[in-house]
Amino acid sequence: MGSNPESPESEGVISANKVQWQANPGACEKCNELDGQYFSQGNEPEKPHPNCNCKIVECYYVNEYGRWKEISRSVPSYNMQDPIFTQLINSTLVLWMKSYYITEERNVNICIGCGTRREVLETNNEHRKRKIKNTEYSIAYCASTTKIDEWSVWWCANPWVPGDIRRGSFRPGP
Ligand SMILES: [Zn+2]
Ligand SMILES: [Zn+2]
Repeated sequence: MGSNPESPESEGVISANKVQWQANPGACEKCNELDGQYFSQGNEPEKPHPNCNCKIVECYYVNEYGRWKEISRSVPSYNMQDPIFTQLINSTLVLWMKSYYITEERNVNICIGCGTRREVLETNNEHRKRKIKNTEYSIAYCASTTKIDEWSVWWCANPWVPGDIRRGSFRPGP
């Protein structure tokens, strides 16, 4: 397998087992007729005349990948840790987690590359689904941390959705 200097950052380079006739600039009519034509390796035509400067170039299949683009995202779910209040302190930081899925799409061009020339044969779409997780802190407040015999109530606002207030109760520690 020969080298393929034209596609250093492409993935998936495989031999096409083909060659392409590339006419020299200023070539004769006969040579220009062959320009751009593909032949299976070993079946390339003879040079039509002496001093023909046309090239017969080995070809490769090359994939060109476009950028991933988001096309949809799921409704996020929000989870929080239970707050832990130390005695005499009636607020504490709570870690929240936001998670959702995004669906992304990219184009993949299947190309045939021969020396400096490249031709797109087919364009496909690829999809992937990724889970995204974000974390953020929010303050949880407690009605009381001093009345050991009573259940206390805490509340904490979702840092992304302020209207989403979680509440709970716990028995304060000694
Ligand atoms: Zn010629
Ligand atoms: Zn020629």
